[in-house]
Amino acid sequence: MELVLVYDERHKLHRDPGDRHPEGVWRVEDSVAELRKSGAWSYVRVVRALEPDYGAVLLVHDPDYVDWIRSECSKGFHYVDADTYVTEHTCDVAASFAASTAEAAVRSVETGSPWFVMARPGGHHAGRRGPAMGAPTLGFCVFDYAAIAARTLADLGYRVMVLDFDAHHGNGTQEILWNDPRVLHIDIHQRWIYPGTGDIEDVGGSGAEGTKINVPLYPDSGDENYSWILANVVEKAREIFQPDAAVVFAGFDAHREDRLTQLQVTEATYSLFGHYLRKLLELGEMGGLVSVLGGGYGRGMVRSFRSYIEGLLNITSEPEMRPVSPGRSVEYGVSRVLSILSRTVQNLKK
Ligand SMILES: [Zn+2]
Repeated sequence: MELVLVYDERHKLHRDPGDRHPEGVWRVEDSVAELRKSGAWSYVRVVRALEPDYGAVLLVHDPDYVDWIRSECSKGFHYVDADTYVTEHTCDVAASFAASTAEAAVRSVETGSPWFVMARPGGHHAGRRGPAMGAPTLGFCVFDYAAIAARTLADLGYRVMVLDFDAHHGNGTQEILWNDPRVLHIDIHQRWIYPGTGDIEDVGGSGAEGTKINVPLYPDSGDENYSWILANVVEKAREIFQPDAAVVFAGFDAHREDRLTQLQVTEATYSLFGHYLRKLLELGEMGGLVSVLGGGYGRGMVRSFRSYIEGLLNITSEPEMRPVSPGRSVEYGVSRVLSILSRTVQNLKK
């Protein structure tokens, strides 16, 4: 199998001149350099990003928000809120990666090859009109790549699973897809940290109930818990929903070395997720897979990215893990939302 990697050095045009922001240029550069050291690299084909396409952006964002953020970008480097900076190039860079993620999703279902988009800045906290679900800021994000790819595929008639394993809740993605029964959105995140949303009781809007699955985790949750979630949440929901393709918001900030979170995940979890998704493609359970880079703010992200790609390409052996439930509240909430999802899927078939 070949993996297509969308890498474009224009990501460096989104840069804090003092390099003080945790979402730095090094995240993409060092991750790609690490992957080059792997045997996986001979199965990777690198392509550039597309030119900026605001039509793709407007699939999920309001014109007023897009006009506002573009006017902010035109002013040059500054913070638009307490967390999020832009430069004169940020909007075009993000619109390039938005177009590329949508294109990657379509190409992946056409060819069956997995794609990975090395996008910066972030994506999943950007809602329809900017900050989402009451969040105070854009959380380093400008345009929601995963939602754009999911909407693109859904409009072509595909059923889509969005898997967001970034350690923060994807509030922008959830807000955008809330009422869309064509997209299953599973979000695994640390509870009580930014943006504060992602309650297990939040299961989707009218007609889409059960298609939004939130898995909030206590600090210190680790590999064994993620292994349990993969088997008992992700795979069970996938069996019920039967997606044609997956869009992964691949944040590596659940790693134990991350500066912004308190989870205890190691590279093994990302390898496990890579192996899981590869097997779905190989078995024909899914026709396409696009992953887009999410968070990751410590050195662990670089190795985690490599482990994920090595799992996707079957370069390393699959880690063996003992699945451990992350707690009764998650177990109870998940069984409830899966039964709601089953009813919704039955209704959609009628
Ligand atoms: Zn994150």
